Amino acid sequence: MSDKKTIALIAHDNKKAELVEWAMFRKSELEKYNLCGTGTTSRRVSEATGLDVHGFLSGPLGGDQQIGAHLAEGKIDAVIFFCDPLTALPHDPDVRALLRIAVVYDVPIATNRATADCVLAAGIDLGFKN
Ligand code: PGA
Repeated sequence: MSDKKTIALIAHDNKKAELVEWAMFRKSELEKYNLCGTGTTSRRVSEATGLDVHGFLSGPLGGDQQIGAHLAEGKIDAVIFFCDPLTALPHDPDVRALLRIAVVYDVPIATNRATADCVLAAGIDLGFKN
């Protein structure tokens, strides 16, 4: 079992290109972590960067809930979640549940690029950096 910390990656459809671009830019830092993500996001990031990203189910089909469950079990140390604030989503209850459970367990959850940069940069102070 790897002792690397684990970061989950999620992006809503209108934010996927932005997350892929960010992951390419941050590849040298991201490769220090175990990575996982919702189905389509993980595949897109993996294809673009060559990083190994474990894919859960697609978000609307339960992927957000899977990530929430792993977070609650202490298996996810930070979440990068580029969410779309301008589009109504069918799985909004799942998104809210994930945000809630991250608050409950005090796990960093970055919902935009600026915060994602902060989380990676400040990881060592937050205690999850490798
Ligand atoms: P996806 O899920 O990566 O499978 O598209 C993300 C989401 O919409 O929650």
